[in-house]
Amino acid sequence: MSDLVSNKPISTSVGDYLKAIWSVAGTGSASTNALSERLSVSPASVSSMLVRLRQMDFVDYEPYYGASLTESGSREALRLVRRHRLVETFLLQHLGYSWQEVHDEAERLEHAVSDGFTERLAEFLGHPQRDPHGDPIPAADGTLAAENSFPLTEAGTGGRVRISKVRDDDATILDHLADRDLVPGRLLSVLEVRALDGVVTIEDERGKTHALGESLARSVFVRGTSDIA
Ligand SMILES: [Zn+2]
Repeated sequence: MSDLVSNKPISTSVGDYLKAIWSVAGTGSASTNALSERLSVSPASVSSMLVRLRQMDFVDYEPYYGASLTESGSREALRLVRRHRLVETFLLQHLGYSWQEVHDEAERLEHAVSDGFTERLAEFLGHPQRDPHGDPIPAADGTLAAENSFPLTEAGTGGRVRISKVRDDDATILDHLADRDLVPGRLLSVLEVRALDGVVTIEDERGKTHALGESLARSVFVRGTSDIA
């Protein structure tokens, strides 16, 4: 049964669902509501698609308990994520796209290119480990390095952190971050995480202070720095 599905290219909507489940739930399970929000479709359409995906052996799904990816579902999701992140890297480095523009274009191209193209692209780019937003690029065999970053909103006051990645799907947020040079690799001091409204105040490497509203701070992922106490 899995031979039947693995050789046939999957449709754009099937691919988008598998990626959504992967990004909402990882190896856990995603609720119908979370998927409906993520994909901007009604819970009823999510449920009927999940039944289809179960028939295709891509998800384990029980109504009211949510859906989790099977091994072949997870393989398909990671294949698309690999294409997406390599395409983003290519567009930024070689076609003059901005940091903010690459995601939407990659969303389209990831469904159009073949595995052969993807591997040639990886070769051409020198097998990058991370995409322009800092997200790790899954390997061709579907393995993905473990991530230990957390949203800036969860950083402790007084801590020193380094930006590891930023959410890639909101151009307004990316614009705002790019303008302030808050990009992967930058070192930050966390001056305050205000419990009342979630505003995070940080100081960048050049001593400039930025107050980030909660949704912005939630889009910036950081890692603690062990090199600086
Ligand atoms: Zn993207």
